[in-house]
Amino acid sequence: MTRATNTTTEKRSQIFLPNIFFKCFSVALVCIISFCVGYFLNSSYSTKHLEIGTKTNPIERRNSRHLRPYREQLLDSFKAENLEETLRYFSKEPHLAGSKRNNDLAHHIATKWREYGFDEVTMPKYDVLMSSPKKDRKSHVEIHRNGRVIFKSQSHEKVLREDEKKSKDIPIFLGYSPSGVVEGEVVYANFGTEDDFEKLTAMGVSLKNKIVIARQGQVFRGNKVFNAHSHGASGALIYTDPAQFAPEGDGNTFPKSWWLPDSGTQRGSAMSETGPGDPLTPGFPSVDGIYRQPLNESGLPPIPAFALSYGDAKEILKRMKGPEAPKSWQGGLQLTYHVGPGFKDEDLSLRLDIRNNMENKTITNVIGQIRGAVEPDRYVLIGNHRDAWVFGAADAVSGTAAMMELSRGLGELLKTGWRPRRTIMLCSWDAEEVFVVGSAEWVEENARTLQDRAVGYLNMDVAVNGNFSINVDANPLLQDVAVSLTKEVCDPTVSDTCRSMYDVMLERDVTKHENGIPFCDNLSFGSDYVSFYHFIGVSCADWSYIFGGLYGIRRSYPVYHSIHDSYYWIKTFVDPEFKTHLAVTKYAGIFLLELADVELLPFNTTTYAELLQKKSTIIEKSKHLKTHSISTAAFSRAVKNFAKVARQFESSKSKHKPESYRTLNDQMIQLEKAFIQTVEVNDHKQLRHVIYGPKLANLYGGIYFPRVHYATMKAEKTGDWKSVEKEISLLTFAINSASRVLKPI
Ligand SMILES: [Zn+2]
Repeated sequence: MTRATNTTTEKRSQIFLPNIFFKCFSVALVCIISFCVGYFLNSSYSTKHLEIGTKTNPIERRNSRHLRPYREQLLDSFKAENLEETLRYFSKEPHLAGSKRNNDLAHHIATKWREYGFDEVTMPKYDVLMSSPKKDRKSHVEIHRNGRVIFKSQSHEKVLREDEKKSKDIPIFLGYSPSGVVEGEVVYANFGTEDDFEKLTAMGVSLKNKIVIARQGQVFRGNKVFNAHSHGASGALIYTDPAQFAPEGDGNTFPKSWWLPDSGTQRGSAMSETGPGDPLTPGFPSVDGIYRQPLNESGLPPIPAFALSYGDAKEILKRMKGPEAPKSWQGGLQLTYHVGPGFKDEDLSLRLDIRNNMENKTITNVIGQIRGAVEPDRYVLIGNHRDAWVFGAADAVSGTAAMMELSRGLGELLKTGWRPRRTIMLCSWDAEEVFVVGSAEWVEENARTLQDRAVGYLNMDVAVNGNFSINVDANPLLQDVAVSLTKEVCDPTVSDTCRSMYDVMLERDVTKHENGIPFCDNLSFGSDYVSFYHFIGVSCADWSYIFGGLYGIRRSYPVYHSIHDSYYWIKTFVDPEFKTHLAVTKYAGIFLLELADVELLPFNTTTYAELLQKKSTIIEKSKHLKTHSISTAAFSRAVKNFAKVARQFESSKSKHKPESYRTLNDQMIQLEKAFIQTVEVNDHKQLRHVIYGPKLANLYGGIYFPRVHYATMKAEKTGDWKSVEKEISLLTFAINSASRVLKPI
C-alpha cells in the first residue's frame, strides 16, 4: 500500500512537544485545523448524496480533505502482526460470559489500557441471570424404538483439529432454554418464521404438543422457539442446514474449507420476548438493591430448545412422514424433506432431554477513558463484546483485536502529548452472546449521564468474517459520514493497487447501493449498540467486513457460534495476512477521531428528514387508519415541518462561528432523544424508539414506526383503535419535539 506520510513529521513534532507553551500553541493550531476540516466536512456532508466513488487513490483524497498529522500517525501505528497476535491470544481458549477465562481477559484488557496511559480504567460488575449446561448430565435428543435408544445426538461438537480440544468443557446448548424432558411427534417447520408456521396450519399440520425442527436462518433463533410455542409445540430443535452452511457438499467442509462440517453446531441465545439485558431487571442495572422479578415473569423461553448439527438433524429428517415439504422448504441434505408429524416407522419416537442451570453470575465490563482536552464532558464511545460461545475468533475476537490495536495506537499518541478534543471511552462488554447483557446493564446504570453527554457509540462485533465487502449500518444522522469514511481506506482484498473500500462495496455489494450510491441500513437489535440507540437515543454505527453473497449467507458465516470459529479458520480461509483486520481497524480509527476530534460534528439532519419523508407513506397510506377514520394530517404536517427545519439547520451551519459549534453539536446530539418515548401504551417495552425498532417476529430485522405498527396489529385482533390513535399522536409529538430541538437558538 502506497502511503503519503513523509510530509507529516515536522508538523507532528510541533504539535506534540510536551511543554506547556507548546501544548497551548498546539491546542490553538488543532482548533484552527479542526475549524477548517469541520468547514470542509460540513460542506461535503450537507448534501444528501455523496459523490460517487471515483477511482482516485483514497489516501490522496484524505490528505487533501482531512489534513491531520496525528490521524496519519495513528493509522501508521496499526500493525497486522499485532492484530494477528491479539486474535490468537484471545481465541486460544473458550471464554464464555461469566467464565474464569473471560474474567482473566477482562483483567488483561484493563492492564493493557493502564499501560497505555488511559486516564481511568474501571471494571463495572453486574450480578445477572445466566444459563449454562449441567455438568453431570448433558442435553441431547434421542430416537427410541419401543423404549430402546436407536439414535442419540451429540452433546459436544466433534473435535476436528488438535487446537479445538479445549472445547471439551463447552457442551452444546441454547442460552436460557428451560430444562425438561419432552416426547412427541416431530414437525419440520422450514426456517420457523411466522409465515412458515401459518403455512403448516394451512396444510392442516397441527403443532399441538409436537417437537418442531427448524433450520437456522431468516429470523433470529429465539423467535423460532417462541413461534413454535405460540403454535402449541412443546419443544424446539434448531439446526444448520447444508444448503446455507455447507453448500459444496460433504467433501468440502472444515478443516478442508471454510464450510461447516456435519458435526458443527451453532449455539446461541433462545431469548426474544424481553428487551436486551438481564431478564430479571428490565430497565434497571443488575446491581445491589435493585428488585429482581420472578423467573416466571421474565419472558424466558417457554419450551425446551436445543441446537443440532446437520449430521444429527439428518437422522430425524430422513425418518419423517407426512406431506412432502414445499419445494422452497427442501434443504441441502440428500433426502426428501417431509413436514410430518412423526416418523414413517410408527414404533419410533423422539425424546428431547434438556439439562441447563439457571443461576446468577457476575459479569464484568471494562471501560477505559481518555479525557478530552477541550470538551471532557462529551463522550465518544467505541466498544466490542469480549465473551464468546466457544473460541469466537470472528465473533467477536476479530472486533476485540481491532479495538485493542486501536487502543494501543491511541496510547502511543498520548505519549506524544496528544489528547482528543472530547473524552474517548473504550468498552469491552461481557455477556453479549446471551442477550446483549453487559452493555445493556451499563447503559441502564449510566443512562442519565449518557443521555446528556454521549456524542455517539461505535460498535465492532464481528469485525471480519469474510472477504466480500465492508458493510456499515448506522442511525440516519451518522449514515452519510459512515459511508463517506469508507472512501478513506484502501480495500484489503484488492492487491497491488489501492482502491477504496467504498469503490469495492459499490462494485460487489449490489444490495447496498441505490442509483450507484452506497447506503447504510438502520440499526436493528443485533449487538451492543441496541441499548444506546433504541433505549436512550445515542447515535450509533456498526461495521464488519462480511462473508457476503455466497449461497444466501450475507452477514453470517458458516462456522458462526461453533467450535470451528477459530484462529485457524480465520488465518487459513479468511484473512491470512490480517490485511482485512488492519483495514477495519483503520476505518475504526478514522471514525473515532471524526467524532472525538472534529469541532463541528459530521451529523446530517437532512438525511433523517428525507428518510422520514420517504417512510411517512407507511402511515399516510395505511388502509387500516383510513378504515377506522384515524387522521394522519398532523403527522404529515410534522414530517414536512421537520424537513424544513432540518434544511434550515444544515444551511445555517456554514454561517456559524466556531464558538457556537458546541451549541449546534448539542442540538444534533439531542435530536435522537426526541424520538425516545417512555409512555407505555402497549406492552412492548423494547419499542422505545418511535421511528425505528426491532421486528418482534425477527430481532435481526427492523421496522419503521414500530409502535404504530404493533398497535395496529393488536387492534386488528382486539378492536383497540384508541391505542393506535395514541401511538400516532405520540409519534407526531416526537417529530415536533425533534423540530424544536433544531430550531435556531
Ligand atoms: Zn457477537
